[in-house]
Amino acid sequence: APVGTGVTPRPPPVFEKTENPMSIVFVSSEVAPWSKTGGLADVCGSLPRELVKRGHRVMVVSPMYKLGKKEDELYHGAFDTCSNTTVGCFDAAHEVGFFHQIYDGVDFVFVKHACYERIGGLYGDSYGVYGDNQFRFTLLSHAACEAPLVIDFGEGKGTYGDEVVFVANDWHAGLVPLLVASKYRPYGTYNNCRTITTIHNIMHQGTEPNTTFNNLGVPSDWYSCLEYQYPEEQRAHELDLGLVVNILKGAIATSDRVLTVSEGYAQEIQTPLGGKGLEVMLQERSHRLDGVVNGIDMDEWNPMTDPYTDAPFDVSDFSGKLECKRGLQREMGFEVRDDVPLMGFIGRLDWQKGPDLIRDAIHELMNEDVQLVMLGSGLPELEEFMQWAEGTYSEKFRGWVGFSVAMSHRITAGCDILLMPSRFEPCGLNQLYAMRYGTLPIGHATGGLNDTITRANPYADPDPQLAVAAAVDESDLGPGTGWLFTGMDTRTFYNCVSNACKLYHENPEMWRAMQIQAMSQDLSWYNAALKWEKVFEWAKIDPP
Ligand code: ADP
Repeated sequence: APVGTGVTPRPPPVFEKTENPMSIVFVSSEVAPWSKTGGLADVCGSLPRELVKRGHRVMVVSPMYKLGKKEDELYHGAFDTCSNTTVGCFDAAHEVGFFHQIYDGVDFVFVKHACYERIGGLYGDSYGVYGDNQFRFTLLSHAACEAPLVIDFGEGKGTYGDEVVFVANDWHAGLVPLLVASKYRPYGTYNNCRTITTIHNIMHQGTEPNTTFNNLGVPSDWYSCLEYQYPEEQRAHELDLGLVVNILKGAIATSDRVLTVSEGYAQEIQTPLGGKGLEVMLQERSHRLDGVVNGIDMDEWNPMTDPYTDAPFDVSDFSGKLECKRGLQREMGFEVRDDVPLMGFIGRLDWQKGPDLIRDAIHELMNEDVQLVMLGSGLPELEEFMQWAEGTYSEKFRGWVGFSVAMSHRITAGCDILLMPSRFEPCGLNQLYAMRYGTLPIGHATGGLNDTITRANPYADPDPQLAVAAAVDESDLGPGTGWLFTGMDTRTFYNCVSNACKLYHENPEMWRAMQIQAMSQDLSWYNAALKWEKVFEWAKIDPP
């Protein structure tokens, strides 16, 4: 019979409308549910909806990808606005179309052009990154600058006009602030507009040889804004002078404010290790640089209503979570046991996410009484490791190579522990999803992981009500929501996992209290959206 915890689930935050509605235009290379490779898509899919609820008018401009039959169906709700526009770049005039779909009050605008229609991924295929990405995203940025001016949304709504706040996400949209400053303002358009550059991952800056500058459709006297010198050790070969155009640099230089997806990451990108060459310019602009931790989509990630999991649960009754765990163990072919810590990893198999740490610690990990399931795709050597480990430790290890939303939900719900050994992590969403499902994260103490995981406190009182209070006050007296390890080495990582497993076996009361604190936090977009609004307002009162 289900055992109640006596804890009442926390009510959602009290909702208020803004007194200061704005017109906001997000520009992004991906947006969920239409196109997604990572957290950027989740943010651009859910934050705009929250801003609309607050009373803002919000548009999201993104490419209309056609990667196969599936995508045709995906965009079936979008209609041609018949407001085509012509973009001048790469020595030619390119006609683009705008398709429109209203979803939860947000105007999703899809830019239609043949360059987004190809068999493969959003940015590349099995042969590597597409060679024309500079063209594809130059086109996107130009089209996005036109969208608020030319698309008439009809029925008395009209166009957005030029008094908007642009949110340019990552380098793909990075030409937007630069075009506003160089191509529009000198002719009197967008004088009252503000531009925000959002950095989701500073590893990708959109660099190409500086000889490509003329392709960008940016007035020639703005070249220095984009010019960037690669340090010698990063050059491809001897003849490479390292002189490039760097679109993210141009975006940072010309936007009113820069925003990253956690406070910790906002600090890290100002350091030589984290700034990837842009640290000095970010330091100089630190008074215009903010970090706001992402929220999560509370409907998609709701343990009470999740269509992919075996049973619903919440803080008042964890019996459903146990069903989810048993279901996952069965599906993975593991022994169905309640008393073994079941651990998961979900994410791109790439050095950023640190799956190599799991690989290097695999013998020690597998010596413990644990079960481990990994879901992800990416670097072949890491995929091969997963397959190898599955063969070697078939009783307790599963490696699921691929991308599966359903599987990611089932792992998030069914596991006891989520591993996130990311080398760096601008925000990270999986640890947030995990906490909502009472799955305790073990993360490397970096960026957004450091900001969102509260370290386990062995001296806390495991009273469930105190755990709820700790989640609300963010007080240090609660039991904590997970573990953070400092130092990207196998030993430190393994010790941290081992500590967590020890607590799991020895102190179920404290474990439950940690789950309750994790699940009682407000991880919704509501408060994050309020912070974003503040940044928009600061941009308005603090022009460059
Ligand atoms: P990043 O954007 O750096 O990849 P985030 O943690 O911000 O990392 O977001 C990753 C998103 O992609 C999450 O929604 C995560 O659940 C999802 N995801 C990553 N890999 C997979 C996978 N193999 N299958 C399903 N979802 C995945």
